[in-house]
Amino acid sequence: MTNEPGGTCLGGKSLLLTAKPDFVPDKITLLPDNIANQIAAGEVIQRPASAVKELLENAVDAGATEIKLIITDAGKALLQVIDNGSGMSETDARMCFERHATSKISTIEDLFHIRTMGFRGEALASIAAVAQVELKTKRNEDQTGTYIEVENSVVKKQEPVAASNGTSIAMKNLFFNVPARRNFLKSNAAEMRHIVDEFTRVAMSFPHILFTLTANNQQLFHLEAGSLKQRIVQLLGNNYNAKLVSVKEETDYMNIYGFAGKPETAKKTRGDQYFFVNNRFIKSAYLNHAVMSAYQEMIPADSFPMYVLFIDLDPTQVDVNVHPTKQEIKFEDEKIVYAFVQAAVKHALAQFSVTPTLDFELDASIQQLSSIQQPFTDEKKSSAASGSIFKGFTQKHQAHFIEKSDKSELKHWRDFYEGGQKSESPEHNEASSSLGIVNSPLGDGGTQLLNTYIAVPSKNGFLLIHQQAAHERVLYEQLKAASKDKPVATQRSMFPSTLELTPADAAVMEEIIGDLQYLGYTIEPFGKNTYDGK
Ligand code: ADP
Ligand code: MG
Repeated sequence: MTNEPGGTCLGGKSLLLTAKPDFVPDKITLLPDNIANQIAAGEVIQRPASAVKELLENAVDAGATEIKLIITDAGKALLQVIDNGSGMSETDARMCFERHATSKISTIEDLFHIRTMGFRGEALASIAAVAQVELKTKRNEDQTGTYIEVENSVVKKQEPVAASNGTSIAMKNLFFNVPARRNFLKSNAAEMRHIVDEFTRVAMSFPHILFTLTANNQQLFHLEAGSLKQRIVQLLGNNYNAKLVSVKEETDYMNIYGFAGKPETAKKTRGDQYFFVNNRFIKSAYLNHAVMSAYQEMIPADSFPMYVLFIDLDPTQVDVNVHPTKQEIKFEDEKIVYAFVQAAVKHALAQFSVTPTLDFELDASIQQLSSIQQPFTDEKKSSAASGSIFKGFTQKHQAHFIEKSDKSELKHWRDFYEGGQKSESPEHNEASSSLGIVNSPLGDGGTQLLNTYIAVPSKNGFLLIHQQAAHERVLYEQLKAASKDKPVATQRSMFPSTLELTPADAAVMEEIIGDLQYLGYTIEPFGKNTYDGK
């Protein structure tokens, strides 16, 4: 402390004031805790799903064997996690809402030996800054538990309470005090999708823990403790059951285990791809590339294989503290990890003979057929080609004959294009056809390009319309207009079609089923993620 003019203490400041008649006040102040916490919360809690991740991870860190997640209104109204883990003492229950309050590390060295999911001590402080929180917790060794209510970083109530061992944290009205951020939340269906994603990642990583997810009083997941394979099937759907190849390699430096989907499970959309490093879900384009390269030539270039892979290595070899939500990490030696992942997946696929040509076995009775046993000579070829069966297959009228797409696709599109006349355009010439340009059936100068676009002359040049997108937009506008005043009239189909959804999609379906009904689709739950569309 100093009393010299220009010093940092208050005394110094008053001296400075007398020295300067044209006083300009200082402008720096320390933010109050609740505002500092609200700002910090921006990094950790972006949406209900972020709180799901943090609260589930805390329950896992507390050694729980049963963890229940309860959601109302896609987590906007209520998001609660109940666990049977270690619980907290009365003092800890109060401390846990302070910023940088953690029981998981105490020195900087600890940071490099992390085995817990959390360590930054900011999740509960962040949640308490942007929601109304009710905590109930009790340790095994205590007679009574503790109940605490926190709102806007301020403790509103604290009292002893009868409770079972473990912890229940309820987060209510997320962002009630930050309306701008509340407005940024997406529809319930979108927020629910994020919640199911986070739930899936944590539940996948700890198959020996029982997890349940209940949304709006309906249980969407009930995951009994079991093996990793059982957990994958519970979470991603039964159709993976017979289509998983086990991946397992161990070295002194690192271990890898988990499952990779057989090539036939590859999908057009990226989705069921999971990497866990020391049980933490991570996103890594680099390691994803390693897996993709192991599948090379087994799957189409634009498709994505399923995988759930766990990499375990010495925590000193990874830095998990490079991202606020820890979804990105840094490896000490990224190249070794890449090579190891690639080799392990390649090996697994080869070991199970999962190659495109060897992936099926011919039935013995089929192998006995003369058509397979005897050579197919030229003579046989020409007699077969003149037979009526062969002709039937080559003719236009066979059942599965598909009309060339340039016409059939255009037909639907044309129905929505007003004013179109159906005369053939005379301008068609050979040059344009070699460019993939065909005659316009619109007859108004519209020309189809590359089977995808329609070029339509306009005053200043031409419009390029993406056929498929235009068609979808027209349907969308029709539905929107039709549903404006009253629900769209529904016509029941004679035979309802049954849809089996993945568990994650089924969870979202529950959120949107009312809207679909409004748009004229009667969809009824049929049990086990199956729905009847009528
Ligand atoms: P971190 O997990 O990074 O330590 P959090 O803010 O998530 O930070 O939690 C703060 C502390 O509160 C934890 O370190 C832990 O001691 C305690 N805690 C939080 N959730 C639970 C729980 N479900 N059961 C027992 N203790 C918990
Ligand atoms: Mg935590």
